[in-house]
Amino acid sequence: MSSERVLIAGAGPVGLSAAAYLTRCGIPVTVFEAEAQLPENLRASTFHPPTLDMLAPYGASQRLIEMGLVAPKFQFRDRNEGCIAEFDFALLADDTEHPFRVQCEQFKLNHLLYEWLDEKGGADVRFSHAITGVSQDDDGVTAVVDTPDGEQAFTGRWLIGAEGANSVVRQTLDISFEGFTWDERFLVVSTPFDFGAAMPDLSLVNYFADPEQWFFLLKVPGLWRAMFPTRAEETEAEIFDPARIEARMQWAHARGEAYEHRHTTLYRVHQRVAEQYRRGRAFVAGDAAHINNPLGGMGMNGGIHDAFNLAEKMAAVWHGEAPESVLDLYEAQRRPIALDYVNSQTIRNKQNLEANTPETQQAFRDFLAEVQSDPQKTRDYLLRTSMVASLRAAAEITM
Ligand SMILES: Cc1cc2nc3c(=O)[nH]c(=O)nc-3n(C[C@H](O)[C@H](O)[C@H](O)COP(=O)(O)OP(=O)(O)OC[C@H]3O[C@@H](n4cnc5c(N)ncnc54)[C@H](O)[C@@H]3O)c2cc1C
Repeated sequence: MSSERVLIAGAGPVGLSAAAYLTRCGIPVTVFEAEAQLPENLRASTFHPPTLDMLAPYGASQRLIEMGLVAPKFQFRDRNEGCIAEFDFALLADDTEHPFRVQCEQFKLNHLLYEWLDEKGGADVRFSHAITGVSQDDDGVTAVVDTPDGEQAFTGRWLIGAEGANSVVRQTLDISFEGFTWDERFLVVSTPFDFGAAMPDLSLVNYFADPEQWFFLLKVPGLWRAMFPTRAEETEAEIFDPARIEARMQWAHARGEAYEHRHTTLYRVHQRVAEQYRRGRAFVAGDAAHINNPLGGMGMNGGIHDAFNLAEKMAAVWHGEAPESVLDLYEAQRRPIALDYVNSQTIRNKQNLEANTPETQQAFRDFLAEVQSDPQKTRDYLLRTSMVASLRAAAEITM
């Protein structure tokens, strides 16, 4: 196998997005995925407008729209009062080809990109291949990989570590993952109960601010997902006690009958950004580079934006259209976005929802009222929450 290729660790949404971009540019890639097949975990469900714009050339946006739910609006709500503010992405019709979110499970994107790569040919995707180490010199980068045939070494021109939050690439390169972990974990409960019929003005994405316990309600095809913070002192046994889960669901919406709990998953939540995104020929992207709480749906979306940013630069260097130094621009553009937009916006989203004094609650309502009072402020807010603003800010950064 020629070492003139790009090695990618991880066949998640970020690794496969980078693989698709590079393949489209005629660049050979090898993707190493630790699992025996594409993982089907239930994490991200929201695709933002610019992410859909980026995925369109691979046919993935149209398929996500067909398989998922188009959500043109999102709401902030109060359990008793109902909707307190609603925002409509239609205001971004001149800024994106997709002025809406799509609600669809993230693993479906992985399948779509994998099918596209398979059809296109050229990409070498290897399952049951876990990267365990990295070394590099002037000629290339070598990934040590645990394969079904034992340990093997693969050499390439560059390596993208897109193997998630526990990235071996990041750890092997001794890049620190600065930030913190929240005390409380987040519980996600999926149910087929039709909240839309019970609350007819509900949108598909709804954040409930509440002094007692915030939560959100999101719809994915066939199911609603409710997410709650748990208390730091609650044990897993207590959190997963069906009676306690049921109490949380009834508290969110008392329906008089028991809910069916189709899936229940508990997540530890962090706010961390890698100290560096590049060491020589090796790069980190997606959750390997930054992790944040899921309020606002920015983790996977931001990771896909990393993947396209980096792959575009690699393609320009590969084809002799830009000097090697342009690769430094990847960290210069994307790391500040992870810190100043994604990290700070998701922390603000959490603080707004958990406001538990009359003053902080009122401050959040005043903020929403102010944003809604002026069309320019509403547009700016939507540009921020849809991540268009962060991409524009990154594009402004030059070396
Ligand atoms: C409850 C919840 C809801 C969320 N909702 C949203 C949302 O709505 N929108 C959003 O944008 N984000 C959301 N996120 C975040 C999102 O899930 C992640 O940001 C996203 O999965 C990151 O993609 P990734 O490709 O970087 O990593 P991953 O999806 O973690 O993929 C990494 C891949 O690498 C593989 N791997 C791991 N180790 C190795 C190894 N050593 N060698 C080879 N392969 C390896 C894994 O098996 C996996 O396939 C949510 C997260 C949670 C917990």
